[in-house]
Amino acid sequence: MALVVRNSRARNQGGTVDESDIHHPLLELRLTPDRGLGLFAKKIIKRGVRLLSETPLLVVVSKKGPVSYLDLRQELVKLSPAQLETLYDLQHNPKLLRPKLEAQIRDYAEFARKFVKDDAGMDHFVDCQIKVKAIFDTNATALRNKPGTAIFPLYSRANHSCTPNVYANYNPQLGSHTVHTIRDIHAGEEILTAYIDIAQASDEREENLAKRGVTCQCPACLPGDAFVTSERRRQRIFDFKRCSYAYEGDQVRASDVPAYIIPRNPIEALDRAHEIIKLLLQEGLLGMELAQAYRWASKYSLQSGMLEKAKAFAQKEAEVELYCLGKETGYMSEPSNAAGWTKQLEDMADKDKVKFKMCEKRMMKEAKRLDKKAEKKAKKR
Ligand SMILES: [Zn+2]
Repeated sequence: MALVVRNSRARNQGGTVDESDIHHPLLELRLTPDRGLGLFAKKIIKRGVRLLSETPLLVVVSKKGPVSYLDLRQELVKLSPAQLETLYDLQHNPKLLRPKLEAQIRDYAEFARKFVKDDAGMDHFVDCQIKVKAIFDTNATALRNKPGTAIFPLYSRANHSCTPNVYANYNPQLGSHTVHTIRDIHAGEEILTAYIDIAQASDEREENLAKRGVTCQCPACLPGDAFVTSERRRQRIFDFKRCSYAYEGDQVRASDVPAYIIPRNPIEALDRAHEIIKLLLQEGLLGMELAQAYRWASKYSLQSGMLEKAKAFAQKEAEVELYCLGKETGYMSEPSNAAGWTKQLEDMADKDKVKFKMCEKRMMKEAKRLDKKAEKKAKKR
């Protein structure tokens, strides 16, 4: 897919859009009413379509904490004039032009003062550097599967939503950053990605987005009925996910989970996974967090002796993985990819299958008994 981004500085300043700027069969750049430029679908796009496969313009690996101006500068000097121009053409959020940053850059530039004859030249240099840092902070993407934060010529144009319609991922096998549609998209619809972990409550999302100068205006963030429903669901997803991590022994991601809600056995863990899947689907969160939930459900079904159910969930996981990441998932070690997990289930020895079948019958009986008990209890109330 040949992608060309031409100079758009005049467009950004003038507020009009020349749609011939990007040469892409499915996407175009348009001005949004409140978020500057965005990527839009030119036609109907089905789920699972690879919209972008880009190599980064630059990748910055911070030695400690967030990317500093000095981290960025080390990479900037490696860029060609054309690459610098592409970078400079990206938009920046004026909220990120912080006085502290200006002081830091001015301090750094002082050493160069002896090489610059006039103060006006120095001021221009400092202004450019401040803007470039703001451009970086506005557009940079933390890479999945690779250390570093990167800028992409086109993906960096995509705006944020807490209910995105694409999934972005760095694919080491391809050596590029891919973006796939995770549901069908209408002609004229904006391509929206997630800048942060979206399966968390609104105050956490707000805090994380503020670091990029973003105030989200999506239905899950704006006050109203949709917000209340969404908030309740996402809080439950967040809590149930932490329960699953706690059950898996991942203490870091399970921080502060009250012991009494941690699943005590595979049946309870499966129950949580079911709930996560239901809530994610209701919320329209269809990215790899859904694949993770299907994996949990598959794993706990297996541990509960329900092999066929485990296979059915594995198939669901594979579907999600395919539309989010594409076919090239060889870089994911087995069984961390869905194909590896499915194969593991398929390859189970016959004696294991018999064992699981027997266990499955026993578990079904137990589940029926518990259902009846719950029914009786409900009637008494
Ligand atoms: Zn939002």
